[in-house]
Amino acid sequence: MISCGKKIEITGVSKTFGKKTALRNLSYDLPIGKVVGLIGPNGSGKTTFLKCFSGIWEPDRGEIQFPDGLEKTSIGFCFEDPAFYNSRSPYRNLELIAELRGCDPGSIGDAILEMKIENYLYKAFKSLSHGQKQKVNITSAVLGHPSIIIFDEPNNGLDPEGFILFRELVERLKSEERTIIISSHLLFEMDKMCDHVMLFKNGDIIDDVSMDDFSKRDLESLYKEKLMAE
Ligand code: ADP
Ligand code: MG
Repeated sequence: MISCGKKIEITGVSKTFGKKTALRNLSYDLPIGKVVGLIGPNGSGKTTFLKCFSGIWEPDRGEIQFPDGLEKTSIGFCFEDPAFYNSRSPYRNLELIAELRGCDPGSIGDAILEMKIENYLYKAFKSLSHGQKQKVNITSAVLGHPSIIIFDEPNNGLDPEGFILFRELVERLKSEERTIIISSHLLFEMDKMCDHVMLFKNGDIIDDVSMDDFSKRDLESLYKEKLMAE
């Protein structure tokens, strides 16, 4: 694993949808080997940033420079709109994703156990509950041991066990010095998991805090101060 202290350099990234500017000239040095959180109101550009970062979307301008030794291709992700086959099982969907990423299908076994999805592994994906689908989605992000893993609102629909398993998964990935980026509105969970938090507003990062200096109350205060004030 690449040594800590290195950064992914994000410079002047912009993205528009018609007349709507979703990202405005965003620049940030993203630390490697850390858990980085994105917080900000709905529509502030978090998902757009993560899709540009992961290479799913091309930014209109700007660049994202990965340091030597860190492959841009080694990114796992969990977005709200996963492209799963509804009539196929979670297992088959995970097999197909593993195949696409060029990773060993044997690695699916370990991933399945982490989010405890084994009880509905062979049902049709469409027959699962929202939370069960989300657990499969989270599982898909870690297939093939990517160096960077993106979780966009991973807690949506999860039950308490899901919250705990997800937090433990993040801890495991962090102990392996992977770079983890999480977007979530759950400040309490973000406080437990993140090393750094980026504050998104109107398509830009308006502040960046190290969580060593913040308690849960402080993160809420910070949100109120920076993101709720007009
Ligand atoms: P967040 O994830 O912070 O809630 P998004 O990145 O989803 O915000 O959205 C940022 C802005 O870009 C919003 O105004 C949203 O309406 C717009 N947007 C996002 N995706 C699209 C799209 N595919 N087409 C048009 N507008 C979009
Ligand atoms: Mg979003």
